[in-house]
Amino acid sequence: MKEFEKNIRRVKPYVPGEQPQNKAVKLNTNENPYPPAPGVRTALKSMDTDRLRLYPDPAAGPLVEELARFYHVGTDQVFVGVGSDDVLSMCFLTFFNSKKPVFFPDITYSFYKVWAELYRIPYECQRVDENFRLVKEDYYRENGGVIFPNPNAPTALYEELNVVEDIIAHNQDVIVIVDEAYIDFAGRSALELIDKYDNLIVVQTFSKARSMAGMRIGYAISNPGLIRYLNDAKYSFNSYTLNQTSLICGVEAVKDKEYFEEGLRKIINTREWAKGELGKLGFRFTDSRANFIFATHPDYDAKDLFEAMKAKGIYVRYWGSERIEQYMRITVGTREEMEILFTFLREYMNKGEPYD
Ligand code: PMP
Repeated sequence: MKEFEKNIRRVKPYVPGEQPQNKAVKLNTNENPYPPAPGVRTALKSMDTDRLRLYPDPAAGPLVEELARFYHVGTDQVFVGVGSDDVLSMCFLTFFNSKKPVFFPDITYSFYKVWAELYRIPYECQRVDENFRLVKEDYYRENGGVIFPNPNAPTALYEELNVVEDIIAHNQDVIVIVDEAYIDFAGRSALELIDKYDNLIVVQTFSKARSMAGMRIGYAISNPGLIRYLNDAKYSFNSYTLNQTSLICGVEAVKDKEYFEEGLRKIINTREWAKGELGKLGFRFTDSRANFIFATHPDYDAKDLFEAMKAKGIYVRYWGSERIEQYMRITVGTREEMEILFTFLREYMNKGEPYD
């Protein structure tokens, strides 16, 4: 080993889902199958490209204002970043500085472990139960902070707000982050608790319900004090996080509430129908409240199935990691995309017409 190698920060990186460049039925990274709000297209088409000469507003003013209006909070309660990955990473850096371990579920968004290791934050995974539910009492012990997604990923399970509140209430000496990437498909948000608990941060994204994964916008909502700390960290890292195009398009996406709600309804309807179809084929799955379904089949090996689907250009997500070796995560696409998936599955299981 060369001398300098001793001082290199080595990390085991997060592995993002594949982004196939060919035409594929892409049900592997929980993107929204519908386009962003029509206003986004109009704004992009009429964008003044001369403005790209200048740095964007480092405070992302108009976008912060639009989000504050949408969620009925103050502009000093909103922090934006380059996708919720950026926001979450900043939260780890800013709030998890204890020598005590940060708690998160053992089956969850795998990026948490990566940030903890990147920033040298001690952590301890809390085992979800045999039905993949969070065991809230496990989070009542002393710790250096808590983070969990609701709905959880990849399990798709939603915890009712009283469970979330119990975890926050039992951890008032540390920061609790609720990662609500999929909340719009699920139920009540922890945003309702923002005024009640000053240790709570809620993180959301434009990548799922708002159909803008490609634009990379995420945000945190909390009390002004914690948002100030986040901004201090951000300005110590990279002041110009959101580019000009994202700022303009982000505002348009938030403005169109009707389009947003219609999109949610479509995806939830397709999800519920898809659950029925998977059930008919003998799959078992959790009670998904997200835009994806976490499924297993008692008679078919998940890895074989995953590879067979991929060979036909149908991409789902498979990890093969501990406790979830036999599970796949299937993003809810359009009805047509899901039909292609089911046609393939029926053929694979020799129960219907051949697939070509
Ligand atoms: N949190 C969870 C639970 C996720 O599944 C994802 C998407 N992979 C993210 C955060 C990050 O999403 P984005 O950076 O696109 O906002």
